Amino acid sequence: MIEWFLKVEKPFTQALIAFSISVGILLVVALTVDFSGVHLGGLLFLASFVCCALIAKSVYDTAVTNSQADEMRRELVSDVSFSAKDLYTQLYQNSPVPYLLIDYDGNVTSANLAAGRIFGLSQTKIKGLNVFDYIMSAGDERLDMLVEKFRNGIPMSDEMVRVVRDDGSVSWALLSLFNFVDSFGDHMGMLTLVDITKQKQIEDAKSEFVSLASHQLRTPIAGIKWSAELLQLDAEKTLNDRQKKYIDRLLTGVSRMAVLVDDFLRVSRFELGTFQPEFTTVNLPALISSVVSEQAPRVAQKRIEVKTFFDESITNIISDQNLLRMIVTNLYSNAVKYTREGGTVHVGFGKKDDELVISVADNGMGIPVSDQERIFSKLFRASNAVRNVPDGTGLGLYIVKEAVDVLKGRVSFNSVENVGTTFEIVLPLEVSKETAIIQQDVS
Ligand code: ADP
Repeated sequence: MIEWFLKVEKPFTQALIAFSISVGILLVVALTVDFSGVHLGGLLFLASFVCCALIAKSVYDTAVTNSQADEMRRELVSDVSFSAKDLYTQLYQNSPVPYLLIDYDGNVTSANLAAGRIFGLSQTKIKGLNVFDYIMSAGDERLDMLVEKFRNGIPMSDEMVRVVRDDGSVSWALLSLFNFVDSFGDHMGMLTLVDITKQKQIEDAKSEFVSLASHQLRTPIAGIKWSAELLQLDAEKTLNDRQKKYIDRLLTGVSRMAVLVDDFLRVSRFELGTFQPEFTTVNLPALISSVVSEQAPRVAQKRIEVKTFFDESITNIISDQNLLRMIVTNLYSNAVKYTREGGTVHVGFGKKDDELVISVADNGMGIPVSDQERIFSKLFRASNAVRNVPDGTGLGLYIVKEAVDVLKGRVSFNSVENVGTTFEIVLPLEVSKETAIIQQDVS
């Protein structure tokens, strides 16, 4: 009976039943018991009737609360009643991140909706296309390195790439790719592309502003420098010692400003990807010697001993003269800057496994281990440098890293605090030759 009562789901019906039962009981009691002698019997009957109504109301409220709880339970159960496969499919299909499954050659075997959007194709059309034909590096080259890494099972994450659609429009994305073996034993790849086109546009706008501002600042800075130099020429005849001192300070300040503005300009060009290397024949020993002699006054001032070692089998290489000079100048001037008086700096180059290795070593203050990870980050300076050598921007090594990337090389370092630092640049001699051949063909 109670079970049947609970099965009635409508609260109003439950309340009606409860009311009928309690009124029924009341009537049975009223008919079977003799109330004639009871004082205020009518009032007692009325009060009992009101009690029946209250019982019905309470049953109604309880039933409403129970039915709401049941409803919530049902909703919850319906949410988790997806099978794990359904849930996975829903997440995969509707994820805002483009997901693609590719085979060993890069052909798409499956793609979600977001992948279709980033490639400007429907989900069905995207199947079968070779994803490596649509993904380019920031410098608009095919990503052969990426393909190699994928085939060798090396996972990649957050590589900045351009996705070039059939209609020529371009999106920027962070690519992550890893290799796995499917249930048939075939090598497959799971590729994600996080669209960063908007962020890239904002970054580019900032870099363009810095590039424009630095470019515009160069002319007035050169004007100030020339005027100060002309005044210095007059110094002997017309200026007193105090005025000479002010002109010296002016020249030092304006030279630092010129270096800073040039660094800003370089950084913005690298970030905009507008730095086009010009490969020509470069006399490497001459280039390094000229960088060394540029720094000679500072070296003499700090009584630093400079030792050079040049591999005689290498003289002319094919490279970008400006980028190479930028790299060597930054590394060598840092070595001089961060070495204490009377220290030693080694600079030179050699060949290792058919690659060119340029190295700059010093026995200076070194880089604390805790700072080593961030040393190539833009504007980063190690804690000991900030404390002891206030003159620095933290842009030099960032420029070195970018320049080495453009030349398709590698940069690494070894450093022990208070013992010294060695930077090593490895450049591909072979690639340089190939580029030279292409350049000769063009000319
Ligand atoms: P900075 O203008 O500060 O020299 P860089 O980008 O050239 O900027 O270098 C970044 C930081 O790396 C420096 O501030 C310094 O802490 C560290 N560093 C670079 N080269 C050396 C070196 N040869 N010895 C010790 N620390 C170095």
